[in-house]
Amino acid sequence: MNKNFDETPLTTLNGVGKRRALFLNKLGIFSVRDLLYYFPRDYEDRRAIKKICELVNGEECTFVAVVKSDITKKKIRKNLTIYKLLVCDGHKMANLTWFNQHYLEGIFQPGEEFLFFGKVKIVGNQIEVTSPVYEKKSEDTKKTCRIVPIYPVTADINQGTMQNFIRSALDTVSGSIVETIPEIIRKRYNLSEINYSIENIHFPNSMEDYENARYRLVFEELLLFQLGMLTLKSKTTTTQNGIQFRPTKELRQLIETLPFSLTEAQKRAFEEIEKDMYSNKVMNRLVQGDVGSGKTIIAVLALFLAVKNRYQGVLMAPTGILAEQHFNGIMPLLEPFGINIELLTGSCTMKQKRRIKEGLKNLEIDILIGTHAVIQEDVEFARLGLVITDEQHRFGVRQRVTLSKKSENPDILVMTATPIPRTLALILYGDLDISVIDQLPPGRKEIKTYSVEEDMRKRIYDFIRKNVNEGRQAYIVCPLVEESESIEAKAAEQLYNTIREVELKGLTVGLIHGKMKNSEKEATMKCFVCGKTKVLVSTTVIEVGVNVPNANIMVIENAERFGLSQLHQLRGRVGRGEHQSFCIMINQSKGKVAKQRMDIMAKTNDGFLISEKDLELRGPGDFFGTRQHGIPGFKIANLYKDMNILKLAQEAALSIMKHNNELSLEENEKLRLRLIEMFRERMQADGITCGL
Ligand code: ADP
Ligand code: MG
Repeated sequence: MNKNFDETPLTTLNGVGKRRALFLNKLGIFSVRDLLYYFPRDYEDRRAIKKICELVNGEECTFVAVVKSDITKKKIRKNLTIYKLLVCDGHKMANLTWFNQHYLEGIFQPGEEFLFFGKVKIVGNQIEVTSPVYEKKSEDTKKTCRIVPIYPVTADINQGTMQNFIRSALDTVSGSIVETIPEIIRKRYNLSEINYSIENIHFPNSMEDYENARYRLVFEELLLFQLGMLTLKSKTTTTQNGIQFRPTKELRQLIETLPFSLTEAQKRAFEEIEKDMYSNKVMNRLVQGDVGSGKTIIAVLALFLAVKNRYQGVLMAPTGILAEQHFNGIMPLLEPFGINIELLTGSCTMKQKRRIKEGLKNLEIDILIGTHAVIQEDVEFARLGLVITDEQHRFGVRQRVTLSKKSENPDILVMTATPIPRTLALILYGDLDISVIDQLPPGRKEIKTYSVEEDMRKRIYDFIRKNVNEGRQAYIVCPLVEESESIEAKAAEQLYNTIREVELKGLTVGLIHGKMKNSEKEATMKCFVCGKTKVLVSTTVIEVGVNVPNANIMVIENAERFGLSQLHQLRGRVGRGEHQSFCIMINQSKGKVAKQRMDIMAKTNDGFLISEKDLELRGPGDFFGTRQHGIPGFKIANLYKDMNILKLAQEAALSIMKHNNELSLEENEKLRLRLIEMFRERMQADGITCGL
C-alpha cells in the first residue's frame, strides 16, 4: 500500500459511504491523507472532571454520572421532539436535555455509568445541561476528559461526525505514515516523528504534545514551501540568458519632462531595474509599493528603456478600466519621443485588433498596453523585450507565464500593491527579486477614515453633496457578495436607483459593475474621470489601480465583508490629489473581529502595517492569493505567528539544497515526491520538467 495514503479512498473508512464521501469532497478532502491533514481550527479542553455538586453556572465541564431513568420523549410540535434524561453521581442529580436526537433512544440504560460534557445551567437548585456530549465510561475516552479537536465543518457534516471520521482515519493508518523529513534535519531541529505529530495535532494527550506536533507540521509545511520556491528560482533565473539592454541618454530627458520629480524610493526601485536590464541575466523583479506610491511611472521608464533599445514592451493590467487609464496616462508622456503605443482590450473591434496584431508583427507598434487580451495566442510580437504585469496578485501564474513566453527570455517586471513585510516577501516571493517603494509622493494628506453605523447614512449623503458642491467627486462601493457577481451587480443597481432619485437627487450619479459590457464600463469610467459624473456607485471592480485625483470621498457599504488589505486598496482610490480625502466605512456588524479591523483602518494609512495585521487576524490560508500563483496555500502555518519557524525552515531548505539541489539522494526522495505533488501546477506553467 502507498504509505502516503493519498490514494486511499475515503470509503475504506468506517462510517463513510459514497454520500458522506461527497460531503467530504466539498471540503477539499478526497483521500485518507487529506483527512489526516484536515487540521482542527481549535481545541476544547475537556480534561477537568467535576462532581455534579461542583458544577458552575455557565461553565462547560466534564462530569461522571449514572443513568437514573429511562430516556423520556416529548413531541412539542411537528419538528421538535425533546428528550430528557435524569442522571446522578451518588450525591446530586442533573437533568439532561436533547432536541430531535432520535438515535438517543436505546443508548442509555438505567444503572450504566457515562461521561458527559456540556454547558451547565443552574436554575434554583436544579442542574440542567442541554445537548451534552456523552460517552460510556472507559479508559480510552474520545470526547470527554481530554483535549478535543474542533474542525471547520459544514451543514452536511457536524462536529461529532467529523471527529469520528478523523479518529477512524487515524486508527486505519495506525502509525504507518512514512516520514518525509530526512533524519538529520529532524534531529537538528528537534522535530517530532510524523505519526506522533499527526495523532497529536488531532487528539493531543497534553498541551505539550500538541505544541510538539504543531511545531513539526508547521516546519514541514514551510520547509516544503521553501524548497519549492528555491527550486523555482534556480530553474527560472540562472539557467537562461537574457537581453542585455544599453543605457540611453534620452532616459534623463524623459525624466525631466515629467510634471514631478521622482521620490527617493522610486529612484531606488528604478535603479535596481536598470541594473537588471543592463545585465545579461533575465530580470524577474517584483515592484512592491503601497497604493499611490507611484509604480506606474517606474513601468513607463522601463518600457522606454526597452523601446530605445529597439525592443517592444507590453504592459498587462487586470481590468479594462485600468488598462485604458494606463494608456491615456502613458501615451502623452512617450509619444513626443516618437514611440508608438496601442491599447488592446476585450472591447476593441475586430478591425482594430487586426490592425494591432499586424503592427506588432511588423514592429510598427513599440508598446502594447492591455488586459489579458494581450496574451491571446494570435497576438505575436516581433521583438518583445520587456513584459510588465500590473497588480500582479490579480493574475494567475498561467497568464503571467503565457505572456513571458511570447518571446525568448524577455525581462519580466511585476507590480503589486499588496505590501507585505520585507522579510516575509523575501521568503514568499523566493522566485523573484524585490524592489520596494516605501514612500508616497510628497504633499499627500492622510486620508481621514471613519467607521460608522447605519444611522449615519443621511449625514454621509449630506457630506457627499457638500463636497460635490465644492467641486469634488465621490465613490460609493457596494457590498461584496462572494461567489456571485450578479447579486453584487443587482445590489449596486438598487443603491444607484435610490440615491439618484432620493438622497442625492440633482447630482450626476454613475453606476459601474462587473456584469456590464466592457464598452459600458469604459463609457461610465470616462464620465467619472473627466468630472462629469460626480458620484460613482460601484462594486469592487474599481478596487485596483483606478486613479481620479479629484475624487476625495470613498464610502464603503458593509465594510465588515472586506478583508483589511482590500479595504486599504479601496481607500487608496482617494487621497490622490491635493484635497483632503475621506474614507467612510459603514459597518453593519457588531462582531469583535469586524470592529478590530475597522479600528486598524481608522488608525493607520500604512499599507505594510495593515497587511501585517491582516496576516495576524486572518491567520493561515490563502493570504494574498498564493494559490492563484500555483503555489499551495498554508494548512497550518500562520505566516505571522510562525515567523521564527519560517526562518529555521528556510535555513534548513538552503542546507538541503546546498548538498543536493536536485533532491536526488535517497534521503531526500520523500521530500522530492511531496514537492512534485504540491507544486505540480506551478512547475507545469513554468515549463519546468527537469530534475524534479
Ligand atoms: P500606484 O502605485 O498606486 O500604481 P500611481 O502610479 O497610479 O500609483 O500613482 C499615483 C499618482 O501619483 C498618479 O497621479 C501619479 O501621477 C502620481 N505620482 C507618481 N509619482 C509621483 C511623484 N514622484 N511625485 C508626485 N506625484 C507622483
Ligand atoms: Mg497602479
